[in-house]
Amino acid sequence: MNGVKRFVAGAVCPRCGEQDKLRTWRDEVKEYRECVQCQYLDAMRLDGRNDAEELVTRVNQDRQAPLAPGEQVLTFVPMKPSAGKKSNGATD
Ligand SMILES: [Zn+2]
Repeated sequence: MNGVKRFVAGAVCPRCGEQDKLRTWRDEVKEYRECVQCQYLDAMRLDGRNDAEELVTRVNQDRQAPLAPGEQVLTFVPMKPSAGKKSNGATD
């Protein structure tokens, strides 16, 4: 039955090393191991997959927003200070 905690005969806790202190139970997704001596808790997926694989990551997603038709990316280049020296009455 799901949720029933049972002691595992002969099992040794990986943390405190005590024997017969581990109890195990499971739900629909995971099987759990718990040590009643040191409160060690471990969970293992029943389907063998890692929890990390289920996490949604944005690492591989394109970070740039797509441009709408007619739009373009403009790169702003500030004018150099010397560019404003010319007067309107330029001589030839
Ligand atoms: Zn323990």
